[in-house]
Amino acid sequence: MKPAIFDHLHPTTTQDALKALAMGGKAMGGGQSLGPMLNLRLARPDSVVGLSAIPGMTDIREERGKIILGAGVTHARIEDNDCAIDLPPMLRHVARGIAYRAVRNRGTVGGSIAHADPAADWISAMTALDAELVLQDGAGKQRRIAVAGFMLGAYRTQLAPGEIITSVEIRSQMRDAHWGYYKICRKVGEFADAIGALVIHPSSRFIRLVAGATGAQPLILTQLGAEIAASAQRPREQAIRDALGTNLPGLDPVKLHLMTTALDRCIQKVIPA
Ligand SMILES: Cc1cc2nc3c(=O)[nH]c(=O)nc-3n(C[C@H](O)[C@H](O)[C@H](O)COP(=O)(O)OP(=O)(O)OC[C@H]3O[C@@H](n4cnc5c(N)ncnc54)[C@H](O)[C@@H]3O)c2cc1C
Repeated sequence: MKPAIFDHLHPTTTQDALKALAMGGKAMGGGQSLGPMLNLRLARPDSVVGLSAIPGMTDIREERGKIILGAGVTHARIEDNDCAIDLPPMLRHVARGIAYRAVRNRGTVGGSIAHADPAADWISAMTALDAELVLQDGAGKQRRIAVAGFMLGAYRTQLAPGEIITSVEIRSQMRDAHWGYYKICRKVGEFADAIGALVIHPSSRFIRLVAGATGAQPLILTQLGAEIAASAQRPREQAIRDALGTNLPGLDPVKLHLMTTALDRCIQKVIPA
C-alpha cells in the first residue's frame, strides 16, 4: 500500500518540531518502523517531522560523567564507534546485532526506544545499562526518566503526546562494566525471540539482570541479580527458570525455555564455567 498524503517537514529547532507535532505531526527518527506504519496506513499524520536536522539530535558526546547519545544517532554510528569518544563495548555489540546494515544506517536509538517494540534490542540493553532519557514537550519543559520503567507494555511508553526524546544518557563508568548480552533469533539480525542482558559494575556495586523480548516491557530480575552479586556464581538453570516462572506466570513453555537459555548464556559471558 501507499501512505496517505502528508507533508514532510525538517525543522531545525526543537521548538519548531514540537509545534509541528502539536499540529498533528508525527516524529520520525530513521523511519524504519514508521515507514511501514505509514505504508499500511496504520499512521495517517498530517505531517512527518524529521528530527535529524535539530542540533544535538545526532551528537555523541561525554559530559558530567555521562555519555550522551542524541536520540537521532543511528545504530550504525554506534556499531562503528563513529564519534570522538569511546563507546561502551556493550553498546557496539548490541547495535551490530540489530537487523542488517541498511536498517542500521537509518534506524535511531531514540526511535527504537520510542517505538517500544517488545522484541527490539535497545529497550532491554538500555534498561540493563541503567540509561536515562531526556524528554522535551511543546511548552519547552524538559524531564528525565529512567529507561527502566519507561516502557509500559507492547508499543506503549510514558512518552506524553507531543513530547519527544532528545537524548539517551548512560553513566560513563558503564564503559568499564562487565556485561553479557545474548539474543536468540531465528536468523542473525532479526528481532529477538528472547534476550538476556547482565551488567555488573563492581566498584559501584551496580548489578542488573534483564530478560527482554517478554512480549511486553523488559523484566528486571532483581532477586536473581542480587544472588549473583552475593555469590559471584552462575545460578543453576533451574533457578533462572523459576525466577522467570515467578515473574511471568503462564509463560508458554517454548518461550520460557528460550528466555532461560538467553539469560543463562548472557550470565556465562560474565561468569564463565
Ligand atoms: C527489517 C527490519 C528488521 C529490524 N530488526 C530489528 C532488530 O533486530 N532489533 C531491533 O531492535 N530493531 C529492529 N528493527 C527496528 C529498527 O531498529 C528501527 O530502527 C527502530 O525500531 C525504529 O527506529 P527509527 O529511528 O527508524 O524510528 P521511526 O521509524 O522513525 O519511528 C518509530 C516511532 O518512534 C517515534 N519516534 C521516532 N523518534 C522519536 C523521538 N526522538 N522522540 C519521540 N518519538 C520518536 C515515531 O513517531 C514512531 O512512532 C528492524 C527494522 C526493520 C525494518
